[in-house]
Amino acid sequence: MYMSERRSDVVKKMAELVKAGATLLAYSCPVCGTPLLRLKSGEVYCVRCGKRVFIVKSDLEERSVLTSAVLEELRDTITSLLSDLVRNLREGKFSPGERIEVGREVLVWLEALERVNRLLREVSSGGSS
Ligand SMILES: [Zn+2]
Repeated sequence: MYMSERRSDVVKKMAELVKAGATLLAYSCPVCGTPLLRLKSGEVYCVRCGKRVFIVKSDLEERSVLTSAVLEELRDTITSLLSDLVRNLREGKFSPGERIEVGREVLVWLEALERVNRLLREVSSGGSS
């Protein structure tokens, strides 16, 4: 079994892989506790177990946190842009010709806002598609 792999061999092999371009991760193997490596191919690997390890769940969680942060920022940006446009419209800062253009722009941003809100709902509900 993998227990026959001596610790110094494991360290040596890890060093070799890092030299070959692998990255040492903050995660450790759930089976043996050895720090995991992310190989150049993108696979997460435990040298001691000699196996690929899946940390998909935390990866996904991290990604969805990141996604919702970006989406929330986008939503705030669009909202403030729309409120600026509406304020300028109400204060009569646009000529009749410009108002048509502004109206089109408002529609574009509203559509974007709707899409962002839909994505935010999907992300927060786990987004299994
Ligand atoms: Zn392991």
